[in-house]
Amino acid sequence: MTHAAAKAHIEAVAETARTRSHNEPEFLQAMDEVLDTLVPALVEHPEFIEAGILERLIEPERQIIFRVPWLDDQNRVQVNRGFRVQFNSALGPFKGGLRFHSSVNLSVIKFLGFEQIFKNALTRQRIGGGKGGSDFDPHGKSDAEVMRFCQSFMTELYRHIDDQTDVPAGDIGVGAREIGYLFGQYRRLTGRHESGVLTGKGKVWGGAEVRTEATGYGAVFFAQEMLNRTGEDIDGRRAVVSGSGNVAIYAIEKITQLGGVPVTASDSSGYVVDEQGIDIGLLKQVKEVERARISEYAARKPNARFVANGSVWDVPAELAFPCATQNELTVQGARALLDSGVRIVAEGANMPTTPEAVVMLQQSGVLFAPGKAANSGGVATSALEMSQNAARDRWDFEQSETRLRAIMRDVHDSTYEASERFGRPGDYVLGANTAGFVTVAEAMLDQGVI
Ligand code: NDP
Repeated sequence: MTHAAAKAHIEAVAETARTRSHNEPEFLQAMDEVLDTLVPALVEHPEFIEAGILERLIEPERQIIFRVPWLDDQNRVQVNRGFRVQFNSALGPFKGGLRFHSSVNLSVIKFLGFEQIFKNALTRQRIGGGKGGSDFDPHGKSDAEVMRFCQSFMTELYRHIDDQTDVPAGDIGVGAREIGYLFGQYRRLTGRHESGVLTGKGKVWGGAEVRTEATGYGAVFFAQEMLNRTGEDIDGRRAVVSGSGNVAIYAIEKITQLGGVPVTASDSSGYVVDEQGIDIGLLKQVKEVERARISEYAARKPNARFVANGSVWDVPAELAFPCATQNELTVQGARALLDSGVRIVAEGANMPTTPEAVVMLQQSGVLFAPGKAANSGGVATSALEMSQNAARDRWDFEQSETRLRAIMRDVHDSTYEASERFGRPGDYVLGANTAGFVTVAEAMLDQGVI
């Protein structure tokens, strides 16, 4: 297999997808990002081409779209759209979160599900890739409205999931509260306390220690591994973090624990800068307990300031952790980060950096950690939750964090090794895509044309 033939094959597959999924820009962006890096893997494995692996990989095994009717507090009927895309189960049950956000559509869920296939493979936890969600926006809704919505959502979803088939978890807009309501309705509909059907559960009824912290902590552990490889460290370095949800909060917490100084947090209304380092207790109070806007942090913390219109990437730092949403770090943001001497960009969110910005950062010698690898600690810990549920066991915090740390080291090492093996040492994008791809492709090859 020549380089040119592998490239031509990829182009033909991508062209089919562009025709078939022409109205799915986020999915096509995620697909191109992966396919563009697979030439060396296909040159080494021509059998993947013969077996039609790419053609099958870009097509979900199943996608479910459903109506979610619910009553608001004024007793008015509201209707949202629900999704579950079961992308690939060659390695294990479909696994991936549920996103509740007004921007959710099939394209967004397919992009997330596609990424999830490779991310889950990198964790070596025997889980397939899937994703779901709804265009429901929990912001400003009462607890009772969120509960009724979740119950209606699960009234359809329960037919398609169980602990051996498909195991959803949280994502944007879906935290412990939503997982609780979803699990309650699943239990009522099935009459089974099937702990392993959802992850991110409350700790007293089957949730794992460190699952809440895992994605943010994992992203920082991954960054630490990258820095350690070049003899550097997080200790004493300033960090910019975007977002103030689950991933951002625990990235900020771990950066602080490792001696770094995270100086920002943001939400869709703006960002705060706290030169003393973000006060994690206050941040949790404002965002986790009160579900308030990030400006509230600055209102209560002397010397912190809130910036309503602007880019968090304009704040100078050596470490950058985009932890909010897709395409939030553009070329403009990358240029600002480069001007301030950024050393590492580690994606806590999924696909937060635009393709052009990734190229710019990599070409400037910045250590760039793609979300597939850097934020895989969340799903890896979800898989640990599934193991504990299956064994009716419960690990303590220390044991769970030790496992997470070991998994992140392993994800880092296999990603780096793949980057070396396929000719571009230190290109973690190429490394993550190819390491994940080869694992899934081998499983698909073994299991025949299905
Ligand atoms: P949360 O809902 O807890 O927080 C999301 C944060 O991002 C909020 O601060 C939110 O602000 C902000 N945000 C969301 N959309 C936008 C937008 N369009 N513009 C500006 N800010 C926005 O979600 P998570 O922290 O769980 O998820 C964050 C990212 O991490 C997502 O990309 C997710 O897919 C990814 N991820 C999450 C994992 C997990 O375990 N939770 C695992 C792996 C990846 P606001 O409240 O104003 O909307």
